[in-house]
Amino acid sequence: MNTFPKINLPRLEQSIAEMARFGIKSNGGCCRIALTDEDKQGRDRFVEWCTEAGCQVHVDAFGNIFAVRCGSDGDSGMVLTGSHLDTQPNGGKLDGVYGVLAGLEVIRTLNDHNIRTSRPIVVIDWTNEEGARFSPGLTGSSGFSGHIDIGAASAITGADGKNFIAELGRIGYAGSMDRDAIKPAAYIELHIEQGPVLERCRREIGVVTGVQGVRWYEVDVSGSDRHAGTTPMDDRQDSFFAVARMAEAMRRFALSLDSEVRFTIGRVAVQPR
Ligand SMILES: [Zn+2]
Repeated sequence: MNTFPKINLPRLEQSIAEMARFGIKSNGGCCRIALTDEDKQGRDRFVEWCTEAGCQVHVDAFGNIFAVRCGSDGDSGMVLTGSHLDTQPNGGKLDGVYGVLAGLEVIRTLNDHNIRTSRPIVVIDWTNEEGARFSPGLTGSSGFSGHIDIGAASAITGADGKNFIAELGRIGYAGSMDRDAIKPAAYIELHIEQGPVLERCRREIGVVTGVQGVRWYEVDVSGSDRHAGTTPMDDRQDSFFAVARMAEAMRRFALSLDSEVRFTIGRVAVQPR
């Protein structure tokens, strides 16, 4: 075949809009945190759509959803695509969702044109990619790739004290699919950029050439408790003042390095309050 069929853009946009309703916020964003009722609603709808599109839907022990469209060569490796349906507490409606529903749209388009691929195509929703409730994130993809086992996942407790596996069971997504049922030949993920660079250079799409290597540090800076009102300025040891100077110095350092290095300070807690 010389030309690729075009996807149905209004249908994709409609699906994204419908998914955004599960956990919609008044500012147009989305709060669909992993394994909450909203996540269950989003998952249920995704499964419904995939089933309607003729896929076989499987769930593994980490709650990852695999929607499989069979190929003509049953034994060949599969083409995997997907992303995550969970969001951050102040998430947008595209992060992750776009990658999952774009995969579904590919399957719907292939159906529209009666195209049978030789390789099976699998659209995946990875569980707890964001890690907003169950830290760290990437739980589902780490489980599938063998970086954590189900024992380790069973020990994960959420910020609200709830257990990861128990919550998976509660929303009905503690599955039993054998990991070997999925034989990856390739994996492709469509994702929004989450940065301003493409827009700045007026490009619509780019190819990822590397992934981020994140390092987190927790730093304690100790001062000394003095009376806020009566201690003269030159006798104070205010730890936050030191933190402010450190933050500025680190930012300057990051700017002096090459442009691939990013740095931020996420959370600062000052004691006594
Ligand atoms: Zn994402």
